[in-house]
Amino acid sequence: MPFSDDVKQQAFTRSEGRCECTSTHTGVSGAHHRGFRCPNPLDQNGSWELRHKVAEMAGGTSTLDNSQVTCLTCNDMAGGR
Ligand SMILES: [Zn+2]
Ligand SMILES: [Zn+2]
Repeated sequence: MPFSDDVKQQAFTRSEGRCECTSTHTGVSGAHHRGFRCPNPLDQNGSWELRHKVAEMAGGTSTLDNSQVTCLTCNDMAGGR
């Protein structure tokens, strides 16, 4: 189930306009932020993604608690959805 617009709005507010990714990306181009929160600023009307922290396949739900605002760079590095 995708996130509702309501959850998206709340998640963006929580993120204060910054990517919430804190994972260390692995792979070829995987080191744009290592162990720290990604510094990329986001524009609410621009390009960003709301990801599931726990994948739906693994039982994650589409709630604010299970959401993570990410820039497209991080979203791509994490392998899309
Ligand atoms: Zn990012
Ligand atoms: Zn990242």
